[in-house]
Amino acid sequence: MTRADCETLDIEDPLAAVRDRFTLPDGVIYLDGNSLGPLPTHVPERLRQVVEEQWGTDLIRSWNTHHWADLPYRVGDRIGRLVGAEAGSVAAADTTSVNVYKAIDAARWLRPDRRVIVTDSSNFPTDVYVMRGVADAAGLELRVVEPGHVLESIDGSVAVVALTQVDYRTGRRHDMGTITAAAHDAGAVVVWDLAHSVGAFPVALADVGADFAVGCGYKYLNGGPGAPAFIYVAPRHHAEFRNPITGWFGHAAPFEFSLEFVPAEGIARARVGTPHVLGLAALDAALDVFDDIDMGAVREKSLGLTDLFMDLIEAWVDEVSVVTPRNPERRGSQVSFRHAHAFPIVQALIARNVIGDFRTPDIARFGFAALYLRYVDVWDAAVAVREVVGSGEWRDPRHAVRSAVT
Ligand SMILES: *Cc1c(COP(=O)(O)O)cnc(C)c1O
Repeated sequence: MTRADCETLDIEDPLAAVRDRFTLPDGVIYLDGNSLGPLPTHVPERLRQVVEEQWGTDLIRSWNTHHWADLPYRVGDRIGRLVGAEAGSVAAADTTSVNVYKAIDAARWLRPDRRVIVTDSSNFPTDVYVMRGVADAAGLELRVVEPGHVLESIDGSVAVVALTQVDYRTGRRHDMGTITAAAHDAGAVVVWDLAHSVGAFPVALADVGADFAVGCGYKYLNGGPGAPAFIYVAPRHHAEFRNPITGWFGHAAPFEFSLEFVPAEGIARARVGTPHVLGLAALDAALDVFDDIDMGAVREKSLGLTDLFMDLIEAWVDEVSVVTPRNPERRGSQVSFRHAHAFPIVQALIARNVIGDFRTPDIARFGFAALYLRYVDVWDAAVAVREVVGSGEWRDPRHAVRSAVT
């Protein structure tokens, strides 16, 4: 493999033209789209219209004339297409943490006679904190098992199995079909967090029979900082679904202003309060990028990019150990390696415009978004890693300075 081979792969890449739909700073190799997706080029103009023409001119009439109140469903269905959800089963709203709470609490109400919530120790902390809160409030046991031991931990006492499909640190991917089926066989309900899945590869929520799912709008969906998240509720649960936050937008008739809470039918019940119109408008516009994209092609390229990066790092950089599974079935769209000095290594890479991130205590993490990354970017990033690690460039004290957000 040479850099020229990478250039050939880029010329042959069926997704090559999609890169032009993003605004990427010159010279930057952006390997952090799994944390904050880049700006799709047309989003500022669309936001300007919403701000100036809708908010600025039409004012409160926009709720009806521009259908602001329907944004959570419109955007929800667009996300739903990417995760294999039935129409009318996804709402774009709130943050992922809040949606984890709604989904976990609603899930445990579907199995009121059972006492256990199962998750794994590689889950993202906010998910585990929220589950702990639900378990404490409801008097349930939270069983946190090793990721490889999820299947054997599911027994007849388990109400809810709640997992993040892709490990935010290592990129290890759970087998959603097998785990969902095993949980159902044991009579449990499953909640999937798709934070590192949605927009990165195809997901088939309806086909695997998932019960609930949540995910982020600002990672691979490129909805912008603090973009609204989403929640999926399988249609077969809509009638029984009990949203623990009984806000007025989840009411059957919010503008009747009745003091009695009557839950809305369908996915509307997953809503809480006033939709984040500006955030939803940005996310809605950002999703245009996916309109004519085949997620199978995205997956194929993502596997090509991640394979190449792992091959090069393993061939060139003895000092680090790749922790991402080589088996394509077992990984998401990121590559991570361990090094005792991962933090200053990532900082030194960022100083060279190769932007990845550090996850405590010793993980350097690189997200590969197939919509805008090229094979030459992978090559150049691997060269940068080889140089930064090999030369000891990371030892420069300025790379040891820690900011609040890593
Ligand atoms: C990024 C991420 C979150 C973020 O939650 P917020 O409420 O948006 O801050 C939650 N869970 C997982 C698994 C994530 O990867």
